[in-house]
Amino acid sequence: MKAPMDRWYVGLVRSLVLVLGLLVAGQVAAVELSKKNIEAALDAAYKKYKGLQEGANADYIPALAKVDSNIYGIALVTTDGKVYSVGDIKSEVSIQSISKVFTAALVMDESGPRSLEENMGVDATGQVFNSIVAIEQYKGAEMNPLVNAGAITATSMVKGEMYGDVWGKIESTYNNFAGRKLPLLQDVYESEAATNQRNQAIAHLMFAYGHIKNDPLRATDIYTRGCSVGVNAKDLAMMAATLANAGTNPVTGKQAMKSENVPELLAVMATAGLYDDSGKWLYKTGLPAKSGVGGGIIAVSPGKFGIAVISPPLDAAGNSVRAQKAIADISEALGGNPYEPAK
Ligand code: GLU
Repeated sequence: MKAPMDRWYVGLVRSLVLVLGLLVAGQVAAVELSKKNIEAALDAAYKKYKGLQEGANADYIPALAKVDSNIYGIALVTTDGKVYSVGDIKSEVSIQSISKVFTAALVMDESGPRSLEENMGVDATGQVFNSIVAIEQYKGAEMNPLVNAGAITATSMVKGEMYGDVWGKIESTYNNFAGRKLPLLQDVYESEAATNQRNQAIAHLMFAYGHIKNDPLRATDIYTRGCSVGVNAKDLAMMAATLANAGTNPVTGKQAMKSENVPELLAVMATAGLYDDSGKWLYKTGLPAKSGVGGGIIAVSPGKFGIAVISPPLDAAGNSVRAQKAIADISEALGGNPYEPAK
């Protein structure tokens, strides 16, 4: 009587253990960021797009037209601080608009996330990144800190009496995200400073509408300096990984921004990170990201990894052609889309 009962009970427990084991294995497989998987994803994307000859360097800033179009580097940093890369991770390009994310982070930390929302808004403008029409439409409200008007305004909100005080804080914020002292590309700075009359006009309009409350030309110049900081693909991936890791650099362990402000910052990146193609990008990848006309794109898979690609040729919307494709492939291979249901 007893023996068959025992066998039945043991069988049930075995089946349950098996089912649970399969479920756990399935979960692990869905999120596994092993060295092998990451290297395979990076190599595949690198090779697939190496020969792609589409797009052109930005040339409205003369120095950008001279950058080597063949620079192509991919880097990925996990939130546990492992660094992977393929291709050119030595060449430095100017960070350009990607800097806007990190200036916004500084303002959020100093004055709270509401300060940006209340001053210039957190909505996509539906216009180009340096649109004057977008400013006029709502008198400089209903913008966001990732378009020029919002970014120059955010720069003007960094607390500090003198130019050097403000720039010093911005520079050290960028450095903390990257985990090293980033250089200033003097030739890019001079080239952009000599040709940024449109940004000066934007700053004056934001001043006229009361969003910038100090010298608009000073804010424009500090913004231009921030755009001229030099980064390689590994620096950008580290900056993205710091966002993925709730504001703490996963390699240096240093806090670059307050963790409570990260979700709002990622939300603005998701809304407005890739110019007019932000919606298409989010639809395809689900990743908060930011691109710059220097040819870099960063993307963040929260809690998992930061990824960056540098390749200067841009498409019509101003986003690096290779970078978009490579990041989308790699994230897909590694389950980076935060909206993807766990398998
Ligand atoms: N410094 C550039 C500008 O203000 C940044 C543009 C960009 O990367 O989107 O025009």
